[in-house]
Amino acid sequence: MASRQTAAAEGTAEEVATETPLQPDLGARRGHFPGVLPSIGPLRAYNSASHAVEPIVPSVPGQIRMYTCGPTVYRSVHIGNLRSYLLADWLRRVFSTLDLRVTQVKNITDVGHMRQEMLERGEDKMIAAALAAGKTPAEIAAFYTEEWLADEAALRIERATVTPRATDHVPDMIALIERLIARGHAYVAGGNVYFDVASYPAYGRLSGNLLGGLIDGVRSEVDPLKRHPADFTLWKAAEPGRLVQWGSPWGPGFPGWHIECSAMSMRYLGETFDLHTGGVDNIFPHHEDEIAQSEAATGKPFVRHWIHGQHLLADGLKMAKSTGNAYTLADLRARGFDPLAFRYLCLLTHYRARLNFTFASLRAAATALDRLRDRLRAWHDLPSLAAEDAARTWDARFRAYLLDDLNLPAAVGLLWTMLRHSSLPAAQKRDLLLQWDDVLGLGLDEVRPVDRASLPEDARYLLQTRDTARQNADYLQADALRATLASQGYGVRDTPSGSIVVPQPLPQPVRYSRASDVPSRLAEADSCDVSVCLLVHNYRPDVQRCLASLVQYEGDRRVEYVIVENASSDDTGHWLEHLAAGSERIRLLRADHRLGEAEGRNLAMRQAGGRVVLLLDTGVEGTGDLFGPLLAALDDPSIGVVGRWGLRTDDMRHFEASEERDVDAIAGYLFAFRRADLRRTGWMDPKYRYYRNLDLHFGFQFRAAGLHLVCLPTLPAVLHEHRGWEELSEEEREKRSKRNFYRFLNAWHHREELLVNRQPTNRR
Ligand code: AMP
Ligand code: ZN
Repeated sequence: MASRQTAAAEGTAEEVATETPLQPDLGARRGHFPGVLPSIGPLRAYNSASHAVEPIVPSVPGQIRMYTCGPTVYRSVHIGNLRSYLLADWLRRVFSTLDLRVTQVKNITDVGHMRQEMLERGEDKMIAAALAAGKTPAEIAAFYTEEWLADEAALRIERATVTPRATDHVPDMIALIERLIARGHAYVAGGNVYFDVASYPAYGRLSGNLLGGLIDGVRSEVDPLKRHPADFTLWKAAEPGRLVQWGSPWGPGFPGWHIECSAMSMRYLGETFDLHTGGVDNIFPHHEDEIAQSEAATGKPFVRHWIHGQHLLADGLKMAKSTGNAYTLADLRARGFDPLAFRYLCLLTHYRARLNFTFASLRAAATALDRLRDRLRAWHDLPSLAAEDAARTWDARFRAYLLDDLNLPAAVGLLWTMLRHSSLPAAQKRDLLLQWDDVLGLGLDEVRPVDRASLPEDARYLLQTRDTARQNADYLQADALRATLASQGYGVRDTPSGSIVVPQPLPQPVRYSRASDVPSRLAEADSCDVSVCLLVHNYRPDVQRCLASLVQYEGDRRVEYVIVENASSDDTGHWLEHLAAGSERIRLLRADHRLGEAEGRNLAMRQAGGRVVLLLDTGVEGTGDLFGPLLAALDDPSIGVVGRWGLRTDDMRHFEASEERDVDAIAGYLFAFRRADLRRTGWMDPKYRYYRNLDLHFGFQFRAAGLHLVCLPTLPAVLHEHRGWEELSEEEREKRSKRNFYRFLNAWHHREELLVNRQPTNRR
């Protein structure tokens, strides 16, 4: 799989070496490329049902019928969802190049439940969201449906032929459930209707979750009305007072999620159709259950080919609201990105591989896309040439990649190789690029050069002067003139066929994606006495309280504040910007997404210049002079860290609060050390995304460097609400604490000799 992830960001990727043999000629293709090219097909793609790459051969010649699991419209779709929809879009576009007429159905889940699992538990996210927002569920659904359609349009995802809403198809679902009951595949219990998995022997074939194995894995709270724990709900009785419900032969209620997709797909595509797409998380239970209930109802095969897209991870992690990395297209736009840069980025990873999204990779994709546009601007006015054999060969190779399990990364690699190829005329390159973009969908046909004649006279004059300077190889002057033009809002790019003017995007405020985006000042001499390093995410009043309490007791010490604004979602970032603009002692570093705790603190520490670094949680308030006692303690070179809250342990597993002077760890809420010692300890380990146990690990870095950790219980400081703790659910705290704890233990359990109680008694 790794070889399929050939990244072609920035256009530097090399062509993928393996040549795919051309498929037999199946007829003429459409398109505006001059000269008729042979079509090669069919598309071969991985079928999750057979676990093999297989040709997609339509059951009705000339026509593809496909179904794509669409959004749940009680929240914004995130870029992971959009990756799945892009996959379906690329498939559609490839079918079109094969002269197949595509009928695509993409449903809108507006019944309310997000997931079947929630419905089984009787939860309804949409209703909850509607109530919280003081709106009706229908209003909520309408809002997010519009937003989703706009997101798709911005990504140039072609509109599906039909986008049916679940709420408009409840009678179809009821009819399908009745059919299942009549055929002995479903039963009624307590106003609910369940699918009887035992009645359908092929259950589990798609996902490999066969019934025998499922029994062990079933949750503890099994619905007592179910005959088999794996039976799933087709119809759920409405609880008293439920807002959204329908009448049915089994009483008032509402349909399950799975039945929705079976009913709507068969309604528009027939009982057997060609292709069904979704993300890998849909395989079980959603698609497994769709197959079971559809085939049990009709007695016919449901779908011939299943294609599942792998997930998108953000910053290496599964996207989740609680992690703060469930990015939406609006989040990308807010950072100044063109949505199509995201489309380009998705081209670079094969659909069966995970895509690890980072803002750094998005930036590279945006640059690459701009370069493609630059070329097209430069070549825009060239007259077309008749297609030559060379162009036909390039085109055939491009298409061969598409048909080879939709190998878009290789196709994009080939595109850059083609553009760099010296003997192909520019006009032909342009025509190939535009033609290929029918499939890639980057909107390249809309790229136009900025017409020089439309520029104001002085800009035109500067451009002409610059052209002359370049002709005379006076690059210094050319660069100076480019800068002048840029300051007037005109970008100039030099391309092989002359310089062109491009719309100059407005400069974006600098934001950081990782600690190494800023230079380390560790080698520099101390610029002040103390660098207070704060990692801020929301809760402006806390930040204000914390800062005010410190400033008050600075005395004549020189203190700087290095603040990492960790992608706050409220107005804290703006407020900090004003604050920093008015003070030279505040150095504000804004992150472009929520950095993990260690990464964020590293970012701050890299820019710290003080002799002493004081790491603080924003929940801390100083109630007197902190600086004096901290600085005094750190005058002792044997002491590495000083803090207010100490911890001791006998076994590295149980840490207890301690007010002794010598301790094994210092809580990270208030943690001070000499900046120069970072050269001995190293930075924080960025794997610690969550704050808990990070302080243990970092403290042991000082212990391992032979330094003591000292607790000063009389330090005047109090800890208010700790936001990093309070913003998470019990379950999430537990999970993250545990993960970090084992990270700590694995690193240090064999170093028990470092513990205070293992030291010879003559030591203090
Ligand atoms: P949902 O609204 O959760 O039903 O998801 C809509 C579509 O997005 C489904 O096809 C999911 O499989 C897909 N999907 C969900 N999360 C991700 C992700 N992180 N990456 C890619 N696709 C996803
Ligand atoms: Zn579905």
